[in-house]
Amino acid sequence: MERTFIAIKPDGVQRGLISEIVSRFERKGYKLVAIKLIVPSKEFAQKHYHDLKDRPFFNGLCDFLSSGPVLAMVWEGEGVIKYGRKLIGATDPQKSEPGTIRGDLAVVVGRNIIHGSDGLETAKDEIALWFEPKELV
Ligand code: ATP
Ligand code: MG
Repeated sequence: MERTFIAIKPDGVQRGLISEIVSRFERKGYKLVAIKLIVPSKEFAQKHYHDLKDRPFFNGLCDFLSSGPVLAMVWEGEGVIKYGRKLIGATDPQKSEPGTIRGDLAVVVGRNIIHGSDGLETAKDEIALWFEPKELV
């Protein structure tokens, strides 16, 4: 069954949005197969966002991801990669539709509270980066 990596970034955790966000995935019908709270190192954040290493915001983005606890999760279900990103909404919360997580709960792109894998290969790579196989139930 299809799986995706979802993370609530330090701003989402700090703002107390864990239950709000987890409940949206639960109510949709997806299955939680792994979850843990961790503070990633900057090196780890750089690995996670390696595709963006040439972007001007890369350094600030990695500093931010490693600035506090992140809730790392794996969710499972039919179409969860694509539909999970639909639940999350557009990258820039100014463009996210109301009803999406970023549309309802975030304002600026640098503090958009949640990450979701953008494809099958990325999902596999991100799950392997953040979790040991034995952590997946
Ligand atoms: P994520 O990978 O976090 O789920 P995304 O796939 O919607 O987000 P990406 O293009 O992968 O968007 O960008 C990764 C993250 O980098 C964004 O979530 C956002 O926090 C940050 N980011 C993207 N564009 C900008 C920008 N122009 N300025 C500042 N930060 C940005
Ligand atoms: Mg992305």
